[in-house]
Amino acid sequence: MFKKMMFILFLACALGLQASVTHTNPSLKSLDAEGEKADFLNKASLNVASNGEYKFTSTVGTRAKWDDGISLLNFLDSYKIPQSLYYQLPVEDKELVAEIYAGATYYMLKDSTGKLLQAFIPISENAQIYINYSGNSYKLSIIPINYVVSDEVVALKVQHTPYQDLLDATGDRALAGEFISAYKNNVNFKKYIAKDDVLAVIYERKYRLGRQFGQPNIKIAMIETNKTPNYLVSFNDKYYNLQGKEMTNFLLITPVKYRRISSKFSYGRRHPILGIIRPHYGVDFATPIGTPIHAAADGRVIFAGIKGGYGNVVEIAHADGIKTLYAHMHKILTRAGRYVKQGTVIGTVGTTGLSTGPHLHFGVYKNGVPVDPLGRIKTARVELNRKQKASFNKLAKELKAELDSEVLNIDNSNLFMKKIVQNM
Ligand SMILES: [Zn+2]
Repeated sequence: MFKKMMFILFLACALGLQASVTHTNPSLKSLDAEGEKADFLNKASLNVASNGEYKFTSTVGTRAKWDDGISLLNFLDSYKIPQSLYYQLPVEDKELVAEIYAGATYYMLKDSTGKLLQAFIPISENAQIYINYSGNSYKLSIIPINYVVSDEVVALKVQHTPYQDLLDATGDRALAGEFISAYKNNVNFKKYIAKDDVLAVIYERKYRLGRQFGQPNIKIAMIETNKTPNYLVSFNDKYYNLQGKEMTNFLLITPVKYRRISSKFSYGRRHPILGIIRPHYGVDFATPIGTPIHAAADGRVIFAGIKGGYGNVVEIAHADGIKTLYAHMHKILTRAGRYVKQGTVIGTVGTTGLSTGPHLHFGVYKNGVPVDPLGRIKTARVELNRKQKASFNKLAKELKAELDSEVLNIDNSNLFMKKIVQNM
């Protein structure tokens, strides 16, 4: 029984629930084998009765991928859950629910009759929808996703292409893609990279239930061109060279003339008691109804229509894995499948899906992960001020020393890799 409880505590912790059991056990951290969890999921779940007793019942755990074109309402219908669960949500949560994305891995617990007891549906790297059946009714809340962060190092001698070799070494498509887009416009890989040129990256990787999750964070990267190293250091979410010159390649313009920013981007803070979070995955530009909305960059319209709490929405796919989203539109003036130029009018500002004043909710996603739009919009490049420069120099020096020493570990296999799990 005690062992079972520990499994449950682990699962609750891994899925981001407030664990209600107070015992802790250091050996829990070693229970990360996928097999053990899958086994557990098929055995038992924890039901807390109103008198506070724990009861184990036979349940089935499932991991599934969210299908394209499915809304939360479709999902609720398929489990005979009342739609009021969605309609009663505050507008901010309705917006967040519209963030469910195709291909997201989600988890469910059902009883032996197929009735849904719990579902954990991610809406980003940091937040998930939590549906829970208790006391004869369903509850829906947005809660944080807990994950393990690992500091990782990969250093190799290029044998094929930087992308292919990074992918082969790490199996991490997102890392290889981020590496290439970081150096885009800085280093011409095709022209200057020769066989056995060295490439190295120190980065952070998130894992959820033993699987790679979300986007890697590159801390420092280096690639040689004709034996000369080119470094990039990440600082305040942008890439700089060792001299502190910003190397980020800006793609976007401000999509609308606005009066003020009524809400900024945030990942949300966890409510200390309720455990819920309320992130805001975009910037709200307050401006009158009918104001034209412009495509923030060249791209292809991948969605034009109604999207839950976002009302009328246009989504555009751009280069470098960037996607932009324009919500609460009054009129949509484009169609899915169309190619648009930066500045093309794609619609007008409205209040659809909203109870507040007219504004454009503008979202920016990098490889599907929401990022702060204001950090991605083309402005005059701002030099680091004296204080920032000092902390940048310190960081860059430390990271460079670390990376340079890891590169020495590359052996005859042309490869060196290291992983350090930081926290849980
Ligand atoms: Zn918004």
